[in-house]
Amino acid sequence: MRIDIITIFPEMFEGPFKHSIIKRAQQKGVVKINLINLREYATDKHKRVDDYQYGGGSGMVMMVEPIANCIDELKSKNDYDEIIYMSPDGELLTQKIANRFSTFENIIILCGHYKGIDERIREHYITKEISIGDYVLSGGELAAAVLTDSVVRLIPGVLNDETSALSDSFQDDLLSPPVYTRPYDFKGMKVPDILLSGNDKKINEWRLEKAVKRTKERRPDLMDK
Ligand code: SAH
Repeated sequence: MRIDIITIFPEMFEGPFKHSIIKRAQQKGVVKINLINLREYATDKHKRVDDYQYGGGSGMVMMVEPIANCIDELKSKNDYDEIIYMSPDGELLTQKIANRFSTFENIIILCGHYKGIDERIREHYITKEISIGDYVLSGGELAAAVLTDSVVRLIPGVLNDETSALSDSFQDDLLSPPVYTRPYDFKGMKVPDILLSGNDKKINEWRLEKAVKRTKERRPDLMDK
């Protein structure tokens, strides 16, 4: 999979993409993440990518031309499954969306800033708008990193134990059951004995029961599905 991220702050991705699972996925060649600095597509000598709003009002708007030039150039080289704009008024990111995106070959993720981007880009270039929650961030970079992480870990071959993503919360509209590791007894707080029984059938039943209980308590809306 190829993920092209258009941003004015490529350095912001160094942390999230240079560690752990996302780092390994890139090393294995399962995913190629390209950070594209939008300023390189600015058309004036000051490398300007934002301007004042028509109609007045506070806050700058990201200009059409640099973004359009950047996307046009990328599209001339690759076919994209989706051209995504991170936006608080987009479709709420869910595990279902992450699953679907993980099957794609090529995607573009555009990060906004300031007041957002010129509406003409949203109308004519963007094919999908994604929000990571009902709150407003200063820029699309953290949201793009969240989307990328949720997608990349689902690409086959990324997680060592492939079934481990399948047993995560939300995969089957259930939250995860509780998990434990050594020691068995920590200051009198013990691990449920069933998990040491060696009886896989009983353990699976226990896990399902706990997952259902937790989902009913914390996210009854998921059960209604
Ligand atoms: N004026 C806009 C917010 C702009 S925030 C509004 O009220 O809708 C600046 C940028 O941060 C946006 O262009 C978007 O790319 C990103 N952003 C902010 N909150 C986000 C969220 N919840 N999910 C995804 N991207 C978000």
